[in-house]
Amino acid sequence: MRGERVSAFCLTEPDAGSDLTNVRTMAVAQEDGSWIINGLKTWVTNGPVADHFTVLCQTRPDRKMRGQNFFIIDRNTPGVSVSPKFPLVGTRSTEISELALTDVVLPADAMLCPPGRGLHNLLSILAEIRTMTAALALGLARAAYQAAFQYARERSAFGRTINKYQLIQEKISKMATQIWASELMLYRTTSLIDRQVPCMREANMVKYYATETACYCSDEATRILGAYAYSMEYPVQRFYRDNRFLLYGGGTHEILMGNIAREVGFV
Ligand SMILES: Cc1cc2nc3c(=O)[nH]c(=O)nc-3n(C[C@H](O)[C@H](O)[C@H](O)COP(=O)(O)OP(=O)(O)OC[C@H]3O[C@@H](n4cnc5c(N)ncnc54)[C@H](O)[C@@H]3O)c2cc1C
Repeated sequence: MRGERVSAFCLTEPDAGSDLTNVRTMAVAQEDGSWIINGLKTWVTNGPVADHFTVLCQTRPDRKMRGQNFFIIDRNTPGVSVSPKFPLVGTRSTEISELALTDVVLPADAMLCPPGRGLHNLLSILAEIRTMTAALALGLARAAYQAAFQYARERSAFGRTINKYQLIQEKISKMATQIWASELMLYRTTSLIDRQVPCMREANMVKYYATETACYCSDEATRILGAYAYSMEYPVQRFYRDNRFLLYGGGTHEILMGNIAREVGFV
């Protein structure tokens, strides 16, 4: 938290994105209590600059997700290698890479959770990641709204500034309303996290809603700015490109929809 070391969190693999039951990175216990890790992680945010990695591994394939646990791996450990950073459509200040682990030997205490508790930790971390992604989405939505708001009050067409047109007013009103709803949902969910109340359902809902709001606001902002949204000189194009990441990071919308349907007792 002092910012002296950078960390990365590694769940995703080439064949395990939404479906974490398919995690193939193996941690094999040795007789002396140490572990040997082999596997490949991808889409690792901070991968190129991280000092250590928190890596989801399978320790007991017969127990499926209940056999998974997290291991903390220092970058300098023999057998750790990091790919060059990925070229990205948006969020280009983020450094993302693959992480390959080949016969990485770890001491017994590199396992983060007691055996059998990995799944529980994964679920509580996912609730926090989804809430955090909602906060990123809210910031992006606000930025797009503010850019469109200011532009519409300055830009003239047919003898009046375009904020005087009802169709533009509708866009701004919907953006403002969705941003307010996202704020309320977000503060409610973060207050549950602060009080350590389980809140996966709320986290799924706010991640879904705030991300849709960010996509809506950045899309509408590009329409309000017209051709200038298509210019690299204005930031609106960046909000539009960056919003894509929100749809995937922390769980896709399709996965969230299935989770919410179960959590409200529909299936
Ligand atoms: C910018 C960025 C940063 C990231 N950072 C990290 C990171 O730091 N650490 C990390 O571990 N991962 C990270 N990820 C990966 C991210 O978590 C995955 O992209 C995400 O889990 C989805 O996996 P996938 O992309 O493999 O899609 P897939 O799981 O292959 O899904 C493909 C499509 O199928 C749909 N689908 C899959 N299963 C179902 C189902 N049961 N029902 C309906 N539809 C379904 C999905 O919704 C999606 O539309 C990052 C991704 C991005 C883009």
